[in-house]
Amino acid sequence: MSYEYLKSHIVEINEDIFKICDRLGRNPDKVTLIGVTKTYEPEIINASIENGITDIAENRVQEIIRKFDDIIYKVRWHLIGHLQTNKVKYIIDKVDLIHSVDSIKLAEEIQNRASKIEKIQDVLIQVNVANEIQKYGIPKTELPGVLEAISKMPNIRVCGLMNIAPLVDDSELLRTDFREMKKLFDSLSSYSYSNVMPLYLSMGMSGDYEVALEEGSNMIRIGTKIYGERMAAKNKEAHNG
Ligand SMILES: *Cc1c(COP(=O)(O)O)cnc(C)c1O
Repeated sequence: MSYEYLKSHIVEINEDIFKICDRLGRNPDKVTLIGVTKTYEPEIINASIENGITDIAENRVQEIIRKFDDIIYKVRWHLIGHLQTNKVKYIIDKVDLIHSVDSIKLAEEIQNRASKIEKIQDVLIQVNVANEIQKYGIPKTELPGVLEAISKMPNIRVCGLMNIAPLVDDSELLRTDFREMKKLFDSLSSYSYSNVMPLYLSMGMSGDYEVALEEGSNMIRIGTKIYGERMAAKNKEAHNG
């Protein structure tokens, strides 16, 4: 099967990132584009990698397990959905970056499993800065405590922060949240823990990556704009984590 549309979608998003960065005076090479492959089959994912995608993300452990062996290229794997403590063991040897660390308990289990396989697991802390109720992510006031706890976990490296914007149509509201996240991200450099290394601020999806880039994101997670619309039912499930 041919996936010509993938090629044009990937060219388009890369051109757009380039244009936005040019306007902002930012280096587009410093922005990581992640293809969000949830609900898509390995054949399509492989085709997207052939067209330049270097990083892929799933939001469910089960989908990573199901697809892992069928992705025939070397690629960086990201977990972007909520991670239950009892499922860490299934993905610890598979994912390069876990975006969704949202409790000390989860970090402890990652530490435990990573140490067993002598891995240093890169993670991001998921922070919920929105004022409305969201299911996952720590409130920003808890960030210092979480970092302090993780500083004693030698098999974890905190590489930055992740944020999922609330589903609102108001781009100025989004901007406020993204700006808040950027401030928090910048504050990471004031910690002297040896395993805190602020490299990535993961925020921005198909509908809001431009605002996210304007506010300092350097890692964007793009699903529909690359792979097309997901099926409605799965889409809903995906949003619920
Ligand atoms: C699905 C998903 C995305 C991608 O969403 P699109 O709107 O399809 O680009 C990004 N981040 C997370 C956490 C997701 O679950």
